[in-house]
Amino acid sequence: MSTRAPAVEARQLIKTYPGDVTALNGMDLTVGAGTVLGLLGPNGAGKSTTVKILTTLARPDSGAATVAGHDVLRHPDRVRRAIGVVAQKSGADPVATGRENLVLQGRLYGMRGAAIQSRADELLDRFDLADAAGRQVKGYSGGMQRRLDVALGLVHRPEVLFLDEPTTGLDPEARTAMWDEISRLAGDEGLTIVLTTHYLEEADRLAERIAIVDRGRIVVEGTPDELKGELRGDAVHMELRTDGDRTAITAVLTGVPGVYEVQADGRRVSVRAEDGAAAVPVLLTALEQAGASVAAATVARPSLDDVYLRYAGRRFSEAEAADGRQTSAPVAAGGPR
Ligand code: ADP
Repeated sequence: MSTRAPAVEARQLIKTYPGDVTALNGMDLTVGAGTVLGLLGPNGAGKSTTVKILTTLARPDSGAATVAGHDVLRHPDRVRRAIGVVAQKSGADPVATGRENLVLQGRLYGMRGAAIQSRADELLDRFDLADAAGRQVKGYSGGMQRRLDVALGLVHRPEVLFLDEPTTGLDPEARTAMWDEISRLAGDEGLTIVLTTHYLEEADRLAERIAIVDRGRIVVEGTPDELKGELRGDAVHMELRTDGDRTAITAVLTGVPGVYEVQADGRRVSVRAEDGAAAVPVLLTALEQAGASVAAATVARPSLDDVYLRYAGRRFSEAEAADGRQTSAPVAAGGPR
């Protein structure tokens, strides 16, 4: 654990919009310096409003926040110098080249001369855009544009980077490439990253800590493993070659150490186990002894969607539908690992 002061701290943020829309309803947030926090929630949960306040683009009705040690309300200019923001909508000039965009961005932050050129080269290299540096951005693929957006956010070497839905709209290959790049940034540069996403899989993969947002506040926060661990253990699903004797199977499996929640129904037998992989051979032996032969067994980890369901009281997809703004993007749950 880092002993540095948190890079982001927000306390009891409240924000309402005209028409009595409560966007934030007591948002509390702490992001450790040099860590990646995933703000995860369905559309309308309040993620963008949180980011707008932290990046000084909106003011809360009440509450307080500091970013990189600066108060967002008292010293917005200092906050702006310390952060990089990669919005959902690209800020790049489509008719300028990738390099021109980077140089212009550097100038906006007061960089000059050789320093700006070498920073542009470094970023073009790092984001695999060196070959395309002299081409107009409007000819870039979606993945290239997104990589340039992230590079633009980093020109002035910010301490905290805000990434709003960094892979929405990207094809799977470009999404994986972007994930690799974000992981590297976090690891190599000690950058603090606040990532908003409605992809469960993205949060699981990139964030050291995940804060699940629902109806304008955090409903639960922890590491991806802590959150999934709250669902206790693995699910082991087994298929029998023939219908089993339910009572006998339940009795024998309930006696296996570390196994609970036994469900037997015809050929299908499911249990929860503290360690699914370790339990499988023991379960198979126990079933054979009870006269049942197993055709197939799978071990699945609980998904973040299960966690979301438990804390928000509804499924991700239900929350988005209820908000009336169904997303076109698929919601990927953390599947078996
Ligand atoms: P998310 O980023 O999680 O999708 P938002 O922060 O954009 O959520 O929105 C939170 C709530 O505030 C939603 O109900 C949304 O409709 C509402 N909202 C956001 N921006 C505005 C605005 N400018 N005017 C009115 N309502 C808004």
